[in-house]
Amino acid sequence: MGIEQIYTEVLREHTNSKHNKHHIISPTAKLSGVNPSCGDEIELELRLQNGIIEDAGYTGKGCAISQASASIMIDLIKGKPVEEAMKLAETFFGMIKHEITEDEKLEVLEDAVALKDIAHMPARVKCAVLSWHTLKECVEQSEEK
Ligand SMILES: [Zn+2]
Repeated sequence: MGIEQIYTEVLREHTNSKHNKHHIISPTAKLSGVNPSCGDEIELELRLQNGIIEDAGYTGKGCAISQASASIMIDLIKGKPVEEAMKLAETFFGMIKHEITEDEKLEVLEDAVALKDIAHMPARVKCAVLSWHTLKECVEQSEEK
């Protein structure tokens, strides 16, 4: 399967749109994530307040999949309770690993479902999960503080 086949309009939109690609005001948590196999780098910034992700943004560089995935993720998690964002991350990992395939379970992922077929492209899986892994680690580190 070629990359063009998973290139839905959704991914194209998010790759071109930079609406989540910026620093945020007064982040409370920050973490860099790197996918050396592709050269993707993401720095995620979160502003967590009373268990809610008040704001989120990312900077970095990398392939279209990694950048689009980060942008889609931020759209999904912004304004949500941290707990819910962590559940979304688990659902996303489940989708990518092909452990969750039912449409009803995946609909919470909204635009991120566009990345579903990445599961068939092992070389790109790390690109798709980079931002979500970074999110999880970033939240875990901030909770330890
Ligand atoms: Zn990549």
